[in-house]
Amino acid sequence: MAASGFAITPVYRRVLLKISGESFCREGESGISMTEVASITRQIHQVVQAGVQLAIVCGGGNILRGRQFAEISETIVPSTAHYMGMLATIINGLALQDALESIGVPTRLQSAIRMEGVAEPFIRRHCLRHLEKGRVVILAAGTGSPFVTTDTAAALRAREIDAEVVLKATKVDGVYSEDPSKNPHAIRYTDITFREVLDQNLQVMDAQAMHHCMEHGIPIVVFNYRRADNIARVISGERIGTRVTVERAAPTSQHN
Ligand code: UDP
Repeated sequence: MAASGFAITPVYRRVLLKISGESFCREGESGISMTEVASITRQIHQVVQAGVQLAIVCGGGNILRGRQFAEISETIVPSTAHYMGMLATIINGLALQDALESIGVPTRLQSAIRMEGVAEPFIRRHCLRHLEKGRVVILAAGTGSPFVTTDTAAALRAREIDAEVVLKATKVDGVYSEDPSKNPHAIRYTDITFREVLDQNLQVMDAQAMHHCMEHGIPIVVFNYRRADNIARVISGERIGTRVTVERAAPTSQHN
């Protein structure tokens, strides 16, 4: 998926992009495929060139999810499993960093767990300085605390760095009324409120992340990053994917 000559006219100055671990591997596989990583870095390059300040929270589910791992292992303590999950996000962060730098995007990797040899500690003021200098800041190790996910980390960091929006990059086109792979008549929402998402138990981000964004009025856009230029299009304010806001922007929905 190559980024084309799409001309970006950013409507956001500072953006928090959440990339799940599944974006780092091939469909149905685990681990890291640098080919998959490259498909997202080209788009990141595109938006950074347009002057958008970009912080990225990366997940770790392609390597290990704490809760699942604790469930299948008799001897592992749940908190240890979650720390392992956080370390998985560092591995992804390192891969993303080198992939971005290889195409000329300046980056910094910041970790919520101290790891001086490979990453800077997350320090808000340093993070902001990097962003102002045009560096992509990759935020790894989630919140640094067990029992939550990187969705929650994305929501918390978005507020901390004053990001105007959380972009949730996924492999589906947005938020649906039902699973579109099971029901072809499922409706994709273009605009929906946090309250509707929570009441209908729709899958956007985990509940903690949702509540945080709702409370602080940080919109979330869920979109398919695998379509060419979609990150640039979302950042240009195009109405793709699903936009989750405190108040409904416009009463629109469309069939799959
Ligand atoms: N994790 C954690 N605290 C955090 C963020 C993540 O304990 O603040 C652990 C948790 O076990 C999680 C794993 O790290 O399952 C990987 O993150 P996540 O599942 O959010 O990755 P994604 O689903 O985005 O790939």
